[in-house]
Amino acid sequence: MSRTKSTAISHPSKMKIRFYKPYITGKEIKFIEDIVTNSKVLSGDGEYTHKVQALLEKRYQTQKAFLTTSGTTALEMAVRLVDSNPGDEIICPSYTFSSTANAILLHKGLKIVFAEINPLTLNIDPTDIAKKITKKTKAIIVVHYAGIPCDMDRIMAIAKKNGLKVIEDAAQAIESKYKNRFAGTIGDFGCLSFHETKNITCGEGGALFINSNSKKLIEKAEIIREKGTNRSKFFRGQIDKYTWQDIGSSYLPSDILAAFLLAQLQSVAKIRLLRKRIFNLYATSLRAYERRGIIRLPNIPRFVRGNYHIFYIILNNRKSFTAVQKYLKKHGINAYSHYVPLHSSPQGLRVAGKNVRLPVTDEIGSCLLRLPLYAGMKEVEYNYVVKHVKQILDSLSAKEEPFKNYSPKSPKIAFLH
Ligand SMILES: *Cc1c(COP(=O)(O)O)cnc(C)c1O
Repeated sequence: MSRTKSTAISHPSKMKIRFYKPYITGKEIKFIEDIVTNSKVLSGDGEYTHKVQALLEKRYQTQKAFLTTSGTTALEMAVRLVDSNPGDEIICPSYTFSSTANAILLHKGLKIVFAEINPLTLNIDPTDIAKKITKKTKAIIVVHYAGIPCDMDRIMAIAKKNGLKVIEDAAQAIESKYKNRFAGTIGDFGCLSFHETKNITCGEGGALFINSNSKKLIEKAEIIREKGTNRSKFFRGQIDKYTWQDIGSSYLPSDILAAFLLAQLQSVAKIRLLRKRIFNLYATSLRAYERRGIIRLPNIPRFVRGNYHIFYIILNNRKSFTAVQKYLKKHGINAYSHYVPLHSSPQGLRVAGKNVRLPVTDEIGSCLLRLPLYAGMKEVEYNYVVKHVKQILDSLSAKEEPFKNYSPKSPKIAFLH
């Protein structure tokens, strides 16, 4: 019953800090309840899917938005919509999720060419893209890593010059902007993800943006998404029966998921700001360690607006990475590396061979550590994380070898060009 005891509990010496946590707005259940109590459509392309697609088109300014079952399937659809023949090549980064590469290989005969990333943004390096273009190149898939958009002006110029399509893997980049345009709306196609780990979610889900007013292309996407049939036209009353038109699959999520997603989408701006606060607190608290050359922090180029999807620190070597991760784990804090570079994974080696040299990608793959970050993270939680990160960084000596591809003296990029 004593009050002093409960004060002690509010300053715990050991906490459990989750790596991510979906932000629940409270409206998700109301929208789902509406479907259930009013016997509305449960399958795909019901009222809520249409509401979400219209909202996406209006907010992000894309010609056509299709909800999909995942970011992965949005990428699959996008690659399918690029004209290609067996033996053609698509360039993508190696520092990305397997889905980016699967989307290419699922189309029999297409080849992957891995490109290097820029050490300051961790996004695909346009200079390396240009070097890797051949007569067989058909498209580039760019990944806006951590929600920081790629150098789109340069990438679009390279694509235009070489007649290539650009697919934006914007799975992590909802609400991010390059100059005044939203991520996912600048290339020919944009692919978003609403997986549980992303800024807004419906558990599993995604969206494909078609940034072209070509009726033919939009119709083709609609058919591929609906098991290869023109059922969408039938539902709109444009035809009196629908038939098999093309090879397709089932890429429509249930309207129950769209209802959940509508609630999330209505709060997307607020969620970004909640994440921004935590991101900036981390950055401010750890800046001194960056100045001393112990870690590197994320860079947000001047012409870019981030969405604060990931906060990472880059250690100087694998030994320091392991020491920091282990220390945080011991104190109940979940912090993780990100991708094992695809070119060094078993499947990547099988398709691209052993001679791919991507030193920046390798280094980032072994030295980048992501800290817990989610909308609604409490002050006591991030203070606990910062305290322990500082403790372990203090114990790492500054004598370590500096990061090979980065000199602390090189200026922070304020510009992309
Ligand atoms: C999450 C993610 C995907 C896959 O999205 P899912 O919705 O999980 O299928 C693809 N690419 C990148 C870069 C991602 O972060």
